[in-house]
Amino acid sequence: MIFFIFFSYFFPKKRKLPSFYFWICVIIGLILEVVVLFTPWVISDIKLQPWGFDSVTGILYNKFFLPFVVILICLSLVNLFINYKASDINQKVQLRFIFLGLGLFLLAGTFFGGILPLIIDSQEYYRIGNYTSVLFVVFTAYAITKHNLFNIKVIATELAVAVLSLILFTQIFVSTNILEGVVKGLVWIGATYGGYLLIQSVLREIKFREELQVMTEQLAHANLHLKELDAMKTEFVSLASHELLTPVSAIEGYLSMLLDEKMAKLEDPKAVKYMDRVYSSAKRLARLVTDMLNVSRIEEGRLLVEKKELDLSKLINEVIEEIKFKAEEKKQKIVFQSDSWQTFGDPDKIKEVVINILGNSIKYSKNPGTINIKIEKVPTAWVSEKWQKIEEDIKARPLDDQEAIKSAVDSHLRDLVGSQQLLISVQDQGIGIPNEELPRLFKKFHRVGDYTTAESQGSGLGLYISRALVELHHGRIWADSEGSGKGSTFTFSLPDISSKDEIISMEKQVPQEKEQLKPLARPVKEAEDI
Ligand code: ADP
Repeated sequence: MIFFIFFSYFFPKKRKLPSFYFWICVIIGLILEVVVLFTPWVISDIKLQPWGFDSVTGILYNKFFLPFVVILICLSLVNLFINYKASDINQKVQLRFIFLGLGLFLLAGTFFGGILPLIIDSQEYYRIGNYTSVLFVVFTAYAITKHNLFNIKVIATELAVAVLSLILFTQIFVSTNILEGVVKGLVWIGATYGGYLLIQSVLREIKFREELQVMTEQLAHANLHLKELDAMKTEFVSLASHELLTPVSAIEGYLSMLLDEKMAKLEDPKAVKYMDRVYSSAKRLARLVTDMLNVSRIEEGRLLVEKKELDLSKLINEVIEEIKFKAEEKKQKIVFQSDSWQTFGDPDKIKEVVINILGNSIKYSKNPGTINIKIEKVPTAWVSEKWQKIEEDIKARPLDDQEAIKSAVDSHLRDLVGSQQLLISVQDQGIGIPNEELPRLFKKFHRVGDYTTAESQGSGLGLYISRALVELHHGRIWADSEGSGKGSTFTFSLPDISSKDEIISMEKQVPQEKEQLKPLARPVKEAEDI
């Protein structure tokens, strides 16, 4: 019992022990117990029975012996319970096993030793209670091995080393001559020292593992916290941009009316010039706010995507029509030889991607040139191989660049589908992109170099949004360029119309709450903003 009460103070963490007087009382009690144990005051007589014997208890048994034991057990249990409350999850599991074994043992002991003898007036089954102490041992052993209660590895190593050392030590004394004795003695010292080193290394390994476990837990916790913060940030951006969009659109609309000579008259040419600048800033602001709103809708998975069968070539021709005047301004000739290519997607979203890419080709071209748009059909394996290479390249880059492959789109929604893909490529003869910049383009807010000239102002969100929109269509997007000044080619894939059924069934597996979904936000005059 004294060991058990010690155990309850030391396990799983050492706690402050009770006062000196407490231990004096316990030890005096124990000594008294041991002294009286063999006197007739505890067991006064034994009666032989067919199953063994019944014992007749003496005067001290019920008044001193039993209460003392019960008090010690209760104290130890209270202690263990206090420890349990203060333990971590791992220790709690271990303690639960100990409680279980102990509880069963105490219950069985009380029943077979205390209650049953009173009922049947015989102690025939008394010892079954004692045998159930095995349960305590078994459960504790289980906790040791399965839950690493006492670092079983250390115990096993220590035991093995001790046994080996003992065997080698005894060997010294069965030597036939002094030389053999000396050799065996040296072997014993060597082996014992080696064993000691072994134990140390096991201890180190365990310590390292424990530290690692703590660190992993901390990391998981930090990660969770970051995710929460990220969600809060996205929500904030979503709210803020939503609130900003209305006044910004109003400013833009009224400025446009002011500048329209048919609606209002501005006498001073300087005022017209300034107003013009305010207007173009307001347009840029509106574009930025809508981009941010779209980013948050995409990241929160709240973007409404309504797919249908559509003619890709027709859609591209529509976009070309819309921004032709801008291309002409920058002396860019757009060449698109269109066959009819069918895909299954949301026309608004695909249009946004084409506007972004074609718009960039115009925006980032300084000299007169040609922009070539092409559509071709390729095997899906080709696209996935190309994408794998891009991913491998990015994974070998610094952590900051690796953001370029972190997708805002659920992985179930962006898997490639079907055996054929439509590949849309837009090739320009513009300013080109340095090789190391290529994968970074699709990162949020990333812009190459320092473009401060009015014609190349932008938010760095266009390609990030385009990538998410393409991925929402089970597609991939990437950029190629020979380098600065050598033009660029932006390519994206979309599934072939033959994959329609597969897409529908895949998307059913990732249900979205319809009421939460929002369409893509659009600035008032999209083509003019490019
Ligand atoms: P924005 O155009 O608003 O800056 P994007 O996300 O559309 O944002 O583009 C990101 C960056 O990629 C641009 O700032 C530009 O540096 C580069 N870029 C995009 N398209 C081209 C292109 N056709 N030629 C050269 N650089 C490009």
